[in-house]
Amino acid sequence: MKVTVNRIIPFSSVDGPGNRTTIFLQGCNINCKYCHNPETRGLCQHCGVCVDNCPEGALSMVDGRVSYDLEKCVQCDTCIHVCPHDSSPRTQELSPEEVYERVRKQIPFIRGISVSGGECMLQPAFLTELFRMAKADGLTTLIDSNGTIPFSEYPELMDVTDGVMLDIKAFDCEEHKKVTDAPNEVVLSNAVWLAEHAKLYEVRAVIVPDLYDTERSIRNMGAFLAPYLAVHAFRIKVIAYRPMGVREEYACYQVPDQEYLNYLADILREYGFQNIIII
Ligand code: SF4
Ligand code: SF4
Repeated sequence: MKVTVNRIIPFSSVDGPGNRTTIFLQGCNINCKYCHNPETRGLCQHCGVCVDNCPEGALSMVDGRVSYDLEKCVQCDTCIHVCPHDSSPRTQELSPEEVYERVRKQIPFIRGISVSGGECMLQPAFLTELFRMAKADGLTTLIDSNGTIPFSEYPELMDVTDGVMLDIKAFDCEEHKKVTDAPNEVVLSNAVWLAEHAKLYEVRAVIVPDLYDTERSIRNMGAFLAPYLAVHAFRIKVIAYRPMGVREEYACYQVPDQEYLNYLADILREYGFQNIIII
C-alpha cells in the first residue's frame, strides 16, 4: 500500500501537543478558497509544464512521468506556482512502513505524529497502518481533517487515533459550500461523534469576513458544540485568514484584525469555551 506524500516535517510545534513529526499527504476532496498550500490539492498529471519552467534542470520526463532530482533542486517553488493542477513534482509514493522509518529516527525528540494534507482521511487504510506502528512505540497520533469523511465508519483507525483536529470552515451549509464547494452535514456530524467519543482534540475556524458571515458562524458553532464540553474538554482555534501561499485569485480578502478575533473568542467564552487559541 503506497500513498502520495507531499512532505514530512520532522519537527513541528503547531500540529498538536508537543513536538511532533507531521506528514502531509497529497490530494484533497474539497476546494477551500483560502487554502494556503494549494499544491497539495491535486495529484500530478505528468503534463510536464513544471519541467519546462524549472530553472535548475531538476525536473525531467522519464517514460511519460515527471522525475525529480533533489540534488539539483534549490527549493525555489517555481514548479508548484506554474502547475496547472494544484500539484507538485516533488511528491513521493511511500508505504506506511517507509513513512514510519522516517518517523522512527525522531522518536527520542517527539511526543507523537500528526497527519495532514491535502485531506489525509482519503487514505484511511494508510493511516491505520501508520498509527498502529506509532502507538506500538508509545507515540500519540493525531489527524488533521476537513471533516468530510465520516470517522465513525473507520473503527479500526479510530482505535489507534488519539484525536482529530477538525476544521469547521463555516457552520451554515450554504456558506460552507461557498467557502469549499462542498456541503458540511458530515463535518457537523463528525464533530458530534468525535466529541462524544473524546476524540475531538481541536476545532479550527478560519476567519475570512469577506467570504462568509464569520460572526454568525462562530455563534452558531459555539451554541452547537457547547453541550459536548461536558463530555470532553476540546479546544477551539480561531485562525485569521492570511494571503501567504493562497492562490492569486483568492489572495484578495482582507485580513481580520486582532480586535475582531478577540471579539469572536469572547463570543465562544460566553458559550463556556475556556481553551481558545487565536492565531
Ligand atoms: S507537478 Fe503539475 S505541472 Fe508538474 S508534471 Fe505534475 S501536474 Fe504537470
Ligand atoms: S523547487 Fe521546483 S522549480 Fe525550483 S528548482 Fe526545485 S524542482 Fe525546480
